[in-house]
Amino acid sequence: MAKATTTLRQSLNYQSQHAQYFAANQALFNRVVAFYFDCIQAHEGVLDLTNKEALTALEMLTHATEKNPFPAMPLSAIAEQIPAYFRRGAINAALGSARSFYAQLAKWRTRREKAEAKPTRKGKKKFTERPPVPPRSWNKSVPFYAGQWKERTGSSIVLKVWTGSCWSWVKVRTLGRDVPEKFELGSPSLVCKEKQWWLHTPIEKTFSSPAKIAEQITTNADTRICAIDLNLGEHLAVCTVQTVEGTILATHFIGGGREIAGFRKKHLGRIARNRSQTGIIAQNEQDNADLWRKIRNADEHIAHLVSARIVQFACEQGASILVFEHLGNLKPEKGKYSHRGNSKRAFWMKGRIFNFAKYKAWNLGMITSRVNPRNTSRACARCHSLIVRYAQGQPVEGYTPGTPLCLCQQCQMRGNADRNASLIIGQRLIVRCQEPFKEKPHAPVRRAGRVEKSTGVALSQEAKRKKGPSLSDARHGDDNAHGTAQEGTLWMDERPSAIPTQLRLPLE
Ligand SMILES: [Zn+2]
Repeated sequence: MAKATTTLRQSLNYQSQHAQYFAANQALFNRVVAFYFDCIQAHEGVLDLTNKEALTALEMLTHATEKNPFPAMPLSAIAEQIPAYFRRGAINAALGSARSFYAQLAKWRTRREKAEAKPTRKGKKKFTERPPVPPRSWNKSVPFYAGQWKERTGSSIVLKVWTGSCWSWVKVRTLGRDVPEKFELGSPSLVCKEKQWWLHTPIEKTFSSPAKIAEQITTNADTRICAIDLNLGEHLAVCTVQTVEGTILATHFIGGGREIAGFRKKHLGRIARNRSQTGIIAQNEQDNADLWRKIRNADEHIAHLVSARIVQFACEQGASILVFEHLGNLKPEKGKYSHRGNSKRAFWMKGRIFNFAKYKAWNLGMITSRVNPRNTSRACARCHSLIVRYAQGQPVEGYTPGTPLCLCQQCQMRGNADRNASLIIGQRLIVRCQEPFKEKPHAPVRRAGRVEKSTGVALSQEAKRKKGPSLSDARHGDDNAHGTAQEGTLWMDERPSAIPTQLRLPLE
């Protein structure tokens, strides 16, 4: 059985003094979390245990019982009368943070070792990356385990909170959507968002798990794959649905990139101006908090809209698999502050769209995968030779990254470059599953920069045999004869009978 989890977010209606209780409760919780984080740092060995064993070990260390009257680091030193489930919530929160911190630290150490093992070239700096630091301040939301809450109905709940002077039961009204069908409730937590308290409850549903991707692709020819190309331009996502055999069924463009980029640019520009007027920024203090929040909210909102639309489209088209490409690394850009900040956020948004789409798809029983991003936008989806990429009104030659149109001079495929890329992404997944021994699909071209020269060379042996070498030879001759190339153009979905289907797989 598979599980789908999501969060039920309900805003709360409460008396004003309750807000103070909630704040006091959270402050206490974070003191306890910080205490346990210190405990774990002093006894790193507990991280080798499972969460359950670690919980017992940490309780032994800190909690006095009849059998264990003098614990090594008593929790009572910082707070008396902590309810058991409150303490356990704090221990789990501290364990989570500690595991993440030590994992980061271990990764940093490996990177440092690797860098130091390499012979240093002259003039090249040694390893300068700083190690991760443990959290300096804590702002965790308080989970309410069983025993810390009661009498939950569709519109209210009673919570046990620390008021600042004692433990007390507080009744609050919950607003917002009801629990969706077939979902079960987990432990709620109290979350403060912009001075308003919310109740977040993880909800879970179990369903029979979908077959693995490889199984779906190799055993069922009717399997439909929705491939998505995420972009930094106007079309944030371009989705195509194709069958395992390669029939293209539908395409969907999701726009809005320019609008969100313009919004970000405006606000980042304001932040830059404010900063230049105020001068030095205090350390550890967020400046322009409102503007940053606006940007953050807009980014998140768009990522939710786009991911929801992707999943909806895939669902309408009967796809059971979503496939994206791996994101690669962020390439730092030069230019103004607002420009750099904007492209960075556009890049992050791609990651968000992927993450959101992944869980949204899973909740509907669809599996998400990723493929190697190498040259997905440089090869032709139909014959896999190099494409020419250009913008309307530009000469049809070379490869201009980010332009919307593409033309394959081998098979005369012509169309939208992002759509072409999404088709390649889908094909890559299919090929990977059909050839399980080859982990990484081979990129059709070694060096993407040499577009003009290597056209034709990228043809496979098989392709050459079928078509004869004359074609690629002839191509070298009329590199500049774009006029001829444009005549007799074929659009992506049409396939001339001269081109055999096996050419549609990426080249060896
Ligand atoms: Zn082609």
